[in-house]
Amino acid sequence: FARNPGESEFHQSVSEVFEALDPVVDRHPQYVEAGILHRLCEPERQIIFRVPWADDQGVVHVNRGFRVEFNSALGPYKGGIRFHPSVYLGIVKFLGFEQIFKNSLTGMPIGGGKGGSDFNPAGRSDGEIMRFCQSFMTELHRHIGEHTDVPAGDIGVGGREIGYMFGQYKRLTNRFEAGVLTGKGLTWGGSLVRTEATGYGAVMFADSMLRTRGESMDGQRVLVSGSGNVALHAAEKAAALGATVVTASDSKGYIVDEKGLDLELLKQIKEVERGRISEYAERRGGHVRYVEGGSVWDVPGTVAIPSATQNELDDDAAKTLLNNGVKAVSEGANMPSTEAATHLFVESGILFGPGKAANAGGVATSALEMQQNASRDSWNFDYTHERLEQIMRDIHDRCVETAEEYGTPGNYVAGANIAGFIKVADAMLAQGLV
Ligand code: NDP
Repeated sequence: FARNPGESEFHQSVSEVFEALDPVVDRHPQYVEAGILHRLCEPERQIIFRVPWADDQGVVHVNRGFRVEFNSALGPYKGGIRFHPSVYLGIVKFLGFEQIFKNSLTGMPIGGGKGGSDFNPAGRSDGEIMRFCQSFMTELHRHIGEHTDVPAGDIGVGGREIGYMFGQYKRLTNRFEAGVLTGKGLTWGGSLVRTEATGYGAVMFADSMLRTRGESMDGQRVLVSGSGNVALHAAEKAAALGATVVTASDSKGYIVDEKGLDLELLKQIKEVERGRISEYAERRGGHVRYVEGGSVWDVPGTVAIPSATQNELDDDAAKTLLNNGVKAVSEGANMPSTEAATHLFVESGILFGPGKAANAGGVATSALEMQQNASRDSWNFDYTHERLEQIMRDIHDRCVETAEEYGTPGNYVAGANIAGFIKVADAMLAQGLV
């Protein structure tokens, strides 16, 4: 930790993984002898760069851009780009570190990386967003490529931003290299199901967990946090599987709709108008409660799908959820539960799916997009959706089997970390001291 001062989120993600690895290290001392644990914590490459841009009034701004190329043992670095004012090296490193194990768990040939900027897109015009994306890519393009590093979206980066970045990459390199970015538009190399994949996958994972106890998503009362890409699609899949989704939130507050969310209205407000969650309450009718501030986890529910951001669910929230009878928590976001909340969930014996397993559907479908790009093909929705379902079921089963093999049956945190680690560690051993 002393080598990486002040990077609290990175420390948190490393300690969660290492805690789970104790039984692996005891059984396989060769990993320690080869320095795998030390090497895993040190990114292969970290790039930090200036991103200058001018706003609509001609005022010059300077942001900081990051790309952390963490581990390429299994394939090209792969992971999203986040635009949010909270972004600094510690956040990008925690996300990149998580991504190594998540990508390994998917079974696809992809390494781990992550990037972003402390740019705040809130309230910026389309022209400002485009100029920022172009400036960001003007430096990033030197470091990425379909066989090197393949970024995608994350918080603050959706289809619009990927489009602007892809356009600038193409202009700078004079190559239509579809496989350099994922999350592209459907007419220029994107994959069906990619937009939906993370949220859908988190719900499929919850469903698989519930089925180990003779239940399913059908009939559950679901709490979703956030109202971005992951949250909206998690709510959509949960409703399709027969659940009632009663909450959504943004950084200002949350809504409770006892009749079940009207997803068409919510998507219109969030995706088309880029508005706030409070507008849903104003337009949907008097039965909807909008709570400014506060914690969405105060609302009783049987399944929780945290889908906003890291550390949004602390130990107090975990206790409230457990007291209210929650049966399953499936993390749509990356590390949304604090370390203390994670411990409470695992110790309580409820079904707890950590993000690196539960939200892996997004990156897995990105890998399917890369496959389609490499073969200059595009698959239909049903086929791609089936592939996603199969991948999520496999990840679930791998977590269960690995947890059992290492003496912690039912512990998805241990199962996900150990299964993700072993594949990467074996590839690193095979590739020598690099
Ligand atoms: P979006 O930008 O589409 O949405 C983010 C949502 O979370 C918004 O509702 C936002 O509210 C809320 N939010 C963001 N930061 C905060 C905060 N500090 N406090 C409270 N609410 C906050 O992002 P995504 O849906 O793509 O990502 C959500 C999570 O899922 C992230 O953890 C991301 O890393 C993870 N993830 C995403 C994947 C993807 O495919 N997109 C893949 C795997 C994981 P507001 O508008 O008010 O900021």
